[in-house]
Amino acid sequence: MKREIVLRLSPKDAADDKLIKSLVAKKMKVSPDKLSAFRVVKRSIDARQKIVLVQLHIEAYANAKPPKEKPVVFEYPDVSNKPEVVVVGAGPGGYFAALRLVELGLKPIVLERGKGVNERKKDLALLNRNESVNTESNYAFGEGGAGTFSDGKLYTRSTKRGDFRKVLEVFHFHGASGDILIDAHPHIGTDKLPEVIKAMRQSIIDAGGEVHFDTKVTNVLLDGQKITGVETQSGDKITGDAVILATGHSARDIYYMLDESNVLLEAKTWAMGVRVEHPQDLIDQIQYHSPKGRGDYLPAASYSLSCQIEERGVYSFCMCPGGFIVPAMTDADEMVVNGMSPSKRNSPWANSGMVVEIRPDDIGEYQNKGVLGGLEYQKELERLAFVNGGQGVVAPAQSLADFVDGQLSFDLPECSYVPGLVASPLHFWLPENIGQRLRKGFEYFDRRARGFVTNEALVVGVESRTSSPVRIPRDRMSFQHVQIAGLYPCGEGAGYAGGIASSAIDGEKCAEKAWEFVTGKSID
Ligand code: FAD
Repeated sequence: MKREIVLRLSPKDAADDKLIKSLVAKKMKVSPDKLSAFRVVKRSIDARQKIVLVQLHIEAYANAKPPKEKPVVFEYPDVSNKPEVVVVGAGPGGYFAALRLVELGLKPIVLERGKGVNERKKDLALLNRNESVNTESNYAFGEGGAGTFSDGKLYTRSTKRGDFRKVLEVFHFHGASGDILIDAHPHIGTDKLPEVIKAMRQSIIDAGGEVHFDTKVTNVLLDGQKITGVETQSGDKITGDAVILATGHSARDIYYMLDESNVLLEAKTWAMGVRVEHPQDLIDQIQYHSPKGRGDYLPAASYSLSCQIEERGVYSFCMCPGGFIVPAMTDADEMVVNGMSPSKRNSPWANSGMVVEIRPDDIGEYQNKGVLGGLEYQKELERLAFVNGGQGVVAPAQSLADFVDGQLSFDLPECSYVPGLVASPLHFWLPENIGQRLRKGFEYFDRRARGFVTNEALVVGVESRTSSPVRIPRDRMSFQHVQIAGLYPCGEGAGYAGGIASSAIDGEKCAEKAWEFVTGKSID
């Protein structure tokens, strides 16, 4: 007999396997020794009420042999002599595209401007010591893309677009914990991601695909309205039957290059603001409705807040419980912050982007700069934050309560941001359409989550790279660029994904569409 059982337990009980076994047996009306097997297939935390409960979805078998659990194995056939597809960018979009191309029998040639993950770590150390910003190797550029040194949250609102489960299984196959297959809000953690990314690279190479680091694409090779390949910084021309362009939203030079090559781009809505950081204990107390915080059995609490202020969305973005704020700029005259967490989410801080929706007509005179006006506006905000910061990557910051009250901060609370902070009146220098909405948004959030606005929390500027202000438009059915045959704009930089999981899904989809283009067959 097989049954699916849902248990809603206190956090302590949910950690007690013996108790769970007896409860499952009771539900199945058998004695525990008659229970053949049971396994948790989904786990979530419900903290909406005063009492926090853990919900477990369990598959249980009594007096019956459970089916043998086989981990999903991916077969990557030899593609060394197969038709070649150029994949630009080794982020989640690019690597998932490459692996899918291999599965379908095409040879991916991955070109990545940055370094492999191990080498990349050294540049991040220099950045965190405020010694230098390497424009080609940083938190945005390098193997694994922007997602490598992140929280590794694998949530997506766009599961309808593709096979989200497969993305989790591919990550698991390459070394991510099995927890990601059952947790309602799966995350991998920055300490685990590099090894997973390296294993993905190895699968591509073992199958006969190619991965080239320190290889920056600087041009597209066009034959009329068809792409034939790309040119790299060193002048090499790399051709292929199709090109998947998965360069992320920080690769501004790619947008400028496409614009100069008369490849159509579109302005789109995006979001910018600040990163806010609280003591994790405080967020635990608020979210778990207890002055004692999370206790021994609950994970570091997260939150998701949103509201509308003056007809624009104001919302939390990429919340990192038990995490760190990191410097995410790609050039030395910019200030950009983001967040990451280790797998255990065990730092004493909770940080999150708090951003305001920006529409193409919200950017004043920058609209005159045409389709790339949003990029210029974004750059200007980053320059403003740089000027108001300390030297190099020292970030401008203000206590959250002072920001809301419009006052200078004389003392800043401790912060996870390693390069350091300088007190700065963000309420004063942030553009009004962002600063004012954020302040009103924080007041609203404080009413929803009492204690959120406090002098114990900080705002750190600026969180400007949430998504791209530019879209590289593609045909809805074929996924090819609307004008250029064989060009597949992919992932976050193309404006068709947001986050690791949706970029990975988009990578898979682009690979399938490229396969259809190259083989003339239909995938269905
Ligand atoms: P990217 O990951 O940006 O990858 C693009 C790649 O292309 C990069 O490796 C880049 O070096 C390369 N490239 C760019 N230009 C060129 C060129 N000219 N030639 C060759 N290569 C080029 N999302 C989540 O879902 N969960 C999280 O927890 C999370 N945390 C984050 C934390 C941080 C610090 C940052 C910066 C981002 C985080 N994100 C998170 C966002 C997430 O990383 C991105 O949404 C995702 O990586 C986008 O995938 P992508 O493949 O489209 O682009």
